[in-house]
Amino acid sequence: MSDAVDADHVVVALDVGGTGMKCALVRPDGVTVRTERHPTDASRGPTAVVGAILDVAEGLADKARADGLTPIAVGIAVPGVVDEARGVAVWSANVGFRDVPLRDLAVRRLGLPTTLGHDVRVGGLAEARLGAGRGTGHVLFVAIGTGIAAAHVVDGRAAVGAHDAAGEIGHILVRPDGPRCGCGRPGCLEAIASASAIGRRYAELAGATADAPVTAAEVAERAAAGEPLASEVWQEAVEALADGLATGQALYDVATIVLGGGLAQAGDRLLTPLRAALHERMTFHREPRLVAAALGDEAGCLGAALLALDAVRVRDHQEKR
Ligand SMILES: [Zn+2]
Repeated sequence: MSDAVDADHVVVALDVGGTGMKCALVRPDGVTVRTERHPTDASRGPTAVVGAILDVAEGLADKARADGLTPIAVGIAVPGVVDEARGVAVWSANVGFRDVPLRDLAVRRLGLPTTLGHDVRVGGLAEARLGAGRGTGHVLFVAIGTGIAAAHVVDGRAAVGAHDAAGEIGHILVRPDGPRCGCGRPGCLEAIASASAIGRRYAELAGATADAPVTAAEVAERAAAGEPLASEVWQEAVEALADGLATGQALYDVATIVLGGGLAQAGDRLLTPLRAALHERMTFHREPRLVAAALGDEAGCLGAALLALDAVRVRDHQEKR
C-alpha cells in the first residue's frame, strides 16, 4: 500500500453481521481513523437492514467530511453467498439477504465507488496483508466460529471461485460416520470442530450431568484443567481440524495458516495441540506456519476497505490508459 495517495483520503468500511455492524473510516495505508458499532437487528427484515446499512455508510461519509477528510470509496462486507463481481448479496442465513444489489444501492445513495465482499474473504485479505500473514504471500485464513470458513489469499488477493463459493473448508468431509452438518451431510469438519459443535458434543456426552450449556471456550478451559470429558471432546475437535487443514495444505501449499474466529481465542490451548496434529499428517508436504489472527474483529472492516481501495486503483489505472 505504498501508492501516493492524498493523506486526507478515507474509505467508508462496513462489516455487517447477523447481530451487529462494525464500521470504520480507513485510510489508504490501512490505519483506522474512526470506528463505530451499530445493531443489525436482522429480525426487522432485509429491507430495513439495507436501509440501516445505507444510513450508517452515509453518516460515516458525512462525519469524514466534517473532519476535513475525503471519502473516496465504500467497502461493505456481508456473510453468506456474495457475488463480488456484480455486487450482489445473493443469500445469507443470518442477515436474511436474497439477491440484494447492495453495491448499486450504495453507489446511488452515496455517489461513491462501492465494493461488496464476503466477510471471511475480506477478513482473510486483511490478515494476509496487514495481520498475522503479512509478508508471506500464500495464506489460508480459517475462521472458526459457529461455522468454519476459509479464504485462500495469494499475493494479497482472495480467490472467489467460479460460483462465489471458494473457501468452504467447513464442509470438507472428515468423519464419514460423524454427526450431521447443517448442510445436510454427515461428517463435515464444521459439524465436529466449529465452536458450536464442540459445545454441543460436550453437552451430549455429559448428558444429565451437564450443568448448563457449555461454550467451546469453557471446554478448552476444562480440558486444560485436566477434565477427562472436556479433554476428549477438545482432542476430537483438534484431530478433525488437523485433518481439514492437512487437506487444505495439500490443495493450496500455503506458507501460513491464520486461525481466526471465536475458537482462535483459545490461543495456545488450540494452537499447540493443533500444530502437533498437523505435523503428524504432513508427509511430503511442507508444513505451514500455524498462527492466530492478529487483527481481531477489525479484520472485516479493514478487508472491506482494502477491497474497495483495490477497485479504486484498478479503475484509476484503466482511466489513465
Ligand atoms: Zn457440511
